[in-house]
Amino acid sequence: MFMKSEYDTIAAIATPLSSAGIGIIRISGEDSISLVDKLYCGKAALTSYEPNTINYGHIVDADGNIVDQVLISVFRAPHSYTGEDSVEINCHGGIYVMRKVLDLVYSTGIRPAEPGEFSKRAFLNGRMDLSEAESVMDLIASGNEASYKNSISQLSGFLLKKVKKLRSEIIHEAAFVEAALDDPEHYDLDGYDEKLVIQLNSWESEVQELIDSYHQGSLIKDGINTVISGRPNVGKSSLLNLLSGHEKAIVTDIPGTTRDIIEERVAFGDVILNLYDTAGIRNTDDTVESIGVQKAIDAQSKADLNLYIVDSSVYLNDEDIRFLSEFDPLSTIVLLNKSDLYSIVDIDDIHQYFNGKVVIFSTKNGQGYDELKAAVNQLFFDGGLDKDRFYITSQQNYNDLCDALKSLRLVDKSIEDGMSEDFFTSDLYDAYRSLGYIIGEEVEEDLVNKVFSDFCMGK
Ligand code: GDP
Repeated sequence: MFMKSEYDTIAAIATPLSSAGIGIIRISGEDSISLVDKLYCGKAALTSYEPNTINYGHIVDADGNIVDQVLISVFRAPHSYTGEDSVEINCHGGIYVMRKVLDLVYSTGIRPAEPGEFSKRAFLNGRMDLSEAESVMDLIASGNEASYKNSISQLSGFLLKKVKKLRSEIIHEAAFVEAALDDPEHYDLDGYDEKLVIQLNSWESEVQELIDSYHQGSLIKDGINTVISGRPNVGKSSLLNLLSGHEKAIVTDIPGTTRDIIEERVAFGDVILNLYDTAGIRNTDDTVESIGVQKAIDAQSKADLNLYIVDSSVYLNDEDIRFLSEFDPLSTIVLLNKSDLYSIVDIDDIHQYFNGKVVIFSTKNGQGYDELKAAVNQLFFDGGLDKDRFYITSQQNYNDLCDALKSLRLVDKSIEDGMSEDFFTSDLYDAYRSLGYIIGEEVEEDLVNKVFSDFCMGK
């Protein structure tokens, strides 16, 4: 059997999983540099870099596909955090990409670090004393996200190319109209409107496609806000523990012991779930419990996904029925938990009140786990995440794309209303400008002039 050793090369995500676009994967151990080198593509081999340097490059998968653009730091023993040879990979692609990079790191034989294992090694190697090690643990436990809030927004190469192409096509048409208005002898606008409408339709659908990807993109990047709710004792804490892979919430047989909402971010297949366990939604006279109830209702109204748990070994009560009847099947999955026990409630009973997805589940033996994964993918990604598709993840990009689309539609409207051509150009410039914000370029007079002068050469 594979035994964990204190000398294994280990890896973990060293920054909190936050919506910031950047995150660090730390790898420590004797073989860290040579193993990560297998995934690294840069100006030279990682093993040849000087210690304490930061190096630009790419992480590539087994087929040579680029997974992320990274900055990699190399440290050599004893001058590192742990006192061992270490590598830190600064990923730029958000949580989803970071998970992929981490999986690749594991694929080289590096094993996942235990919680606190880096600090333990630092302590054992004399790099920090016990009190320092403890305060690091506290910091980790407190989930200090503040320092990572300054996210570096990274432009995907795909988006850059696409936006540049759209802009150059738009400016070309705008310049043509201007040239034609200026020099009608050489440039003819006869039949131009029809041609422009076709062009506009194609731009609009390209922009629309990017806009449409935003909702899914933000779910991939920030995670799916998931509320686990249900009556006391149905298995909410047990589900949270199952999903997060370790005992966090306190599980008891006494109803109503999970008083607070616990937030946990877990990787669930290809997606991240931000989990909120609630005190159960029910009317209660117990004030402590009722604080939890209010929080639960608040959390639920903000959630993308509502996992409602029913204990299949006891009868549904009025509260279950009320909630089941109210839930939106587009954002709710009902788990019929404790399927390992004699069941009193079955899927048909639930379907009398709720016509969405019901999964027969057991947190005890794991039944339904894969089906739940499939159900989440179905609900949010039409059955599966399209890994080749590009998703917009920035709210700002989304806003700029919406503005660009609006301007393009105004051109359509001007054509429809039979307005004169000079109306087109200002809206085309607006679309050009909005798209420019995405790639950090506004209207450059130079470029406008250049294209304009291209057309006006014969003048
Ligand atoms: P909560 O109040 O909804 O958070 O429920 P808990 O997770 O604390 O679970 C309440 C009790 O039900 C505990 O004793 C769990 O061990 C038990 N339990 C949870 N899930 C299952 C299951 O799938 N099967 C069985 N047999 N017991 C379960």
